[in-house]
Amino acid sequence: MTLHWTPLAHDGAARAGVLHTAHGTVETPVFMPVGTAGTVKAMTADAVRATGARMVLGNTYHLMLRPGAERVARLGGLHRFMDWRGPILTDSGGFQVMSLAGLRTMDEEGVTFRSHVDGAKHRLTPERSVEIQRLLGADVTMCFDECTPFPATEEQVATSMRLSMRWAKRSRAAYEAREGHGLFGIVQGGVHPALRAESVAALTEIGFEGYAVGGLAVGEGQAAMFATLDCTTPLLPQEAPRYLMGVGTPADILGAVRRGIDMFDCVIPTRSGRTARAYTSRGMLNLRNARHAEDPSPLDPACGCPACTRHSRAYLHHLIKAEEMLGPMLLTWHNIQYYQDLMRGLRIAICEGRLDEHAAALEAGWAPLREENDG
Ligand SMILES: [Zn+2]
Repeated sequence: MTLHWTPLAHDGAARAGVLHTAHGTVETPVFMPVGTAGTVKAMTADAVRATGARMVLGNTYHLMLRPGAERVARLGGLHRFMDWRGPILTDSGGFQVMSLAGLRTMDEEGVTFRSHVDGAKHRLTPERSVEIQRLLGADVTMCFDECTPFPATEEQVATSMRLSMRWAKRSRAAYEAREGHGLFGIVQGGVHPALRAESVAALTEIGFEGYAVGGLAVGEGQAAMFATLDCTTPLLPQEAPRYLMGVGTPADILGAVRRGIDMFDCVIPTRSGRTARAYTSRGMLNLRNARHAEDPSPLDPACGCPACTRHSRAYLHHLIKAEEMLGPMLLTWHNIQYYQDLMRGLRIAICEGRLDEHAAALEAGWAPLREENDG
């Protein structure tokens, strides 16, 4: 059987379920830490697993440039290479080609670009992207699509979305079915409901093991993102997993789960950890700020991670100010732990039919604090 999802419970539009993959089962809603270049930055694989994370994301663009997909395959695949025993989802490389690579030229067939690492010329097509993801050993392969620029006119969004739908068809044709593995289509169409509906129709006609909502969290704002989900998720097949790409803050994730999304990935918890910011049950803290310098209290008394159970805010502040490597490591661990605890709480609340009360309690907790850097 290919990768598939089974529902456990519904609460409103929100769903709890289980994703069945070649590398084990994953309870949803799930947050996948981003393992960009074969590592969740500043974390060992054991540490990632200790947070409760069961599935991670790998980046096709980064891994194809360095160390190269064929080399990873010769070394036994990405799971063995990075010592991650659970499922891995790989993106298609389309987003990073647009955001990182130099000198892009795009045509109907694919994209030619220069590596941001060494300037070497590379080409990605739907067929090559699917091949790279197979070489890496991805449990979930993503269709190669064009990352639509934002802002763009409705006409530009439509042209881009239709190209991505033609590429989705080619990705499906290039994909070799394997036990416990699957290919996800990506809904595009910007913030335009009619284009989103056209994209969903094109993808469901082709047929995929799961459906991602792409092209959001690119600057449209939370209200527009939620409005787009409101008109998109009801059109998606009930029996397939739904993945919102690149989202988001805890509040973004809460809103998207309530709109029927099952899977998430985002660099926010890891990147924030490296820049002294911590997401907690009491809002977002900046450990660089001087007010933490003599604070003996834990970062988040509700958290069981090593940063919170073994150290004070004062110590974490000191590590950041002294630019010690342990500071970003501990804050990354905490942020991933916080995101995993958030998802576990959402799953339980959905199963117990009390998501509204749970959401209100989370939002009340976050409300007091959103601490920016005071220098
Ligand atoms: Zn913690």
